[in-house]
Amino acid sequence: MPDKKEKTEEEQFHEAGKISYSALQTGAKKIKKGARLLDVTKAVEKKIKDLGGEMAFPVNISQNERAAHYTCPAGDETVFGLDLVKLDVGAHIDGYIGDNALTVDISGKNTKLVKASEDALKNAVNAIAPGVKNIEIGTIIQETIEKAGFKPVENLCGHVIQQNLLHTGLSIPNMSFGSEFEIEEGMIIAIEPFATLGRGHVTEDRQVEIFSLEKPMPVRNAEARKVLAFVMENYQFLPFAERWLENVASGFKLKVALKELVTRGVFASYPVLKDIDLVSQTEWTIIVTKDGCERTTK
Ligand code: MN
Ligand code: MN
Repeated sequence: MPDKKEKTEEEQFHEAGKISYSALQTGAKKIKKGARLLDVTKAVEKKIKDLGGEMAFPVNISQNERAAHYTCPAGDETVFGLDLVKLDVGAHIDGYIGDNALTVDISGKNTKLVKASEDALKNAVNAIAPGVKNIEIGTIIQETIEKAGFKPVENLCGHVIQQNLLHTGLSIPNMSFGSEFEIEEGMIIAIEPFATLGRGHVTEDRQVEIFSLEKPMPVRNAEARKVLAFVMENYQFLPFAERWLENVASGFKLKVALKELVTRGVFASYPVLKDIDLVSQTEWTIIVTKDGCERTTK
């Protein structure tokens, strides 16, 4: 038997990136006035599974002034209107993650706003190389968006990715400030400029649909114990949707269990984030190479 050649980390990230990209395109094509958000979500989830991947986080569909962290609740009947829609999709294989997003302008009236986040991403990617500081990238993003007449969202960031970890704690800001570090060869980075007509600052909504395991520890409530066991088994530390737990616990009991787990610090919660006016987003994942970078989500 010939030795089966092990795939390198880089190849695995590329593979996950390809799946994420393909699923993103599948979803984007289905975003139209009158289409159900949940149908788009399920089509994306199915595509990821069909291609041999797993969800790295719940499909985010954020309309208009919402910027991030909305995913459909179970049974959601909401349909698209003439919305500005951010679709953010992540897939992984063995914890190797691809994270990407685009904006669909259903009304066709926000071309410039969409282009601002796209151009910011392109300019950022063109500047990435070993030795470049994350703040320099943030500055490029900010300048591109401001030149187009919009504001970057200051409290949403790109992020360095590692196996099984979507956010390592190293951020690529969308502004010229933040905690500084130098970009290194081999880093996996999600770059995600957000451009807005609003304040350029998102706040937390009351609605929460996405959670992740933060600190596993014993819980007494039987329902909470069931939920925790299921999450540890299926998602580890990656974000998950309340909707994915609909067969583990039902309705009210699930809400109570989640509340207890969040209150005790076992789970982190991700409230829906919104500005006060339209927001666009574009995101790719890239690998830093010797003299630049290569996009994995393509
Ligand atoms: Mn994303
Ligand atoms: Mn991201």
